[in-house]
Amino acid sequence: MNDSANTTGGTRGLGDGTRAVRAGLPEPVKHEPTLPGPVFAAHFHLPGDPTGPYTYGRDENPTWTHLEQAISELEAPGRDDVETLVFASGMAAISAVAFSQLSAGDAVVLPSDGYQVLPLVRAQLEAYGIEVRTAPTGGDAQLGVLDGAKLLWIETPSNPGLDVCDVRRLVEAAHARGALVAVDNTLATPLGQRPLELGADFSVASGTKQLTGHGDILLGYVAGRDRTAMAAVRRWRKIVGAIPGPMEAWLAHRSIATLELRAERQNASALTVAEALRDWPEDLKVRYPGLPSDPSYKIASEQMHRYGCVVSFTLPTRERADRFLDALRLVDDATSFGGVRSTAERRGRWGGDAVAEGFIRLSVGAENPNDLVADVLSALHESAK
Ligand SMILES: *Cc1c(COP(=O)(O)O)cnc(C)c1O
Repeated sequence: MNDSANTTGGTRGLGDGTRAVRAGLPEPVKHEPTLPGPVFAAHFHLPGDPTGPYTYGRDENPTWTHLEQAISELEAPGRDDVETLVFASGMAAISAVAFSQLSAGDAVVLPSDGYQVLPLVRAQLEAYGIEVRTAPTGGDAQLGVLDGAKLLWIETPSNPGLDVCDVRRLVEAAHARGALVAVDNTLATPLGQRPLELGADFSVASGTKQLTGHGDILLGYVAGRDRTAMAAVRRWRKIVGAIPGPMEAWLAHRSIATLELRAERQNASALTVAEALRDWPEDLKVRYPGLPSDPSYKIASEQMHRYGCVVSFTLPTRERADRFLDALRLVDDATSFGGVRSTAERRGRWGGDAVAEGFIRLSVGAENPNDLVADVLSALHESAK
């Protein structure tokens, strides 16, 4: 670890907002900025033997180092055995774990109801001679397909279904069989859930969503504590070159300072919107892990600190869903989630997700909750005509 990655005295024991504001900041140096600006460099001065920390821009960059330190502090407060590697996108991070840990003849368990690009990953893994088994997120079906697997991949809460699985329980079962466990922590963010503390070997996420929260950058990361496994992930990043630009890395670090503020507002509003949808006279099959009546609530409340900003519900038909989206004034009809501006989409338009035609994924932003609830209810009313 190089000096510039040392932080100002550690952030253990502090509140989430304080940790988010201070995460990854270097020791103060007179006349230097508190958060150093992006370092644009393809290479670094390097006389003599090529030793680190900074040699070539595909391998390391000081702006990544600060961001990686920040994410480590959020994913595993107070631990110094956790390493984070940042990537160009969430998919780059997911692929880095899958393709660096698995080789021909290995078996992996993937969620059958996870992020919509996973079926493409599945096809690529199979093309390389890796056996892929699948299990749904909820209901512990993973336990039945773990024997002989090298890696268990779980996504909790799942996107877009918002099901949840018991991370501790699955980790225990996987480790007893010698399998590593990776958790996609995108939806929860490290302020909502800390998979490494629940025993997982990797916490992997798209930073494109609530972590950075402004809908203006793509980013991914892998946090892990097994040195050998993380060395393989690092090697994969070097081979594939799926690296974030310094500007994106710096914007991400800057955005993390407000993560707690954004999550507090957005997640509280998500609960308020979920309650309003639940109380609507039609049964909209509302899902939100923080709603005490939700099937995910029990396990979620045992392993999560926050329940995210995504709410889902189902309108009776595709036409009704399209009319609803069209009638919204404060919520953009757009994909992705986690940003300060609310978005909603008819998820079935992409194909690939096992959802009904009228299924809506709504990402609650930082607008005032009463404005959002009024907009959503008026669009429901409008679209019912
Ligand atoms: C968006 C998303 C990804 C992929 O992230 P990108 O940054 O778009 O590559 C992976 N997993 C989940 C759960 C996601 O929502």
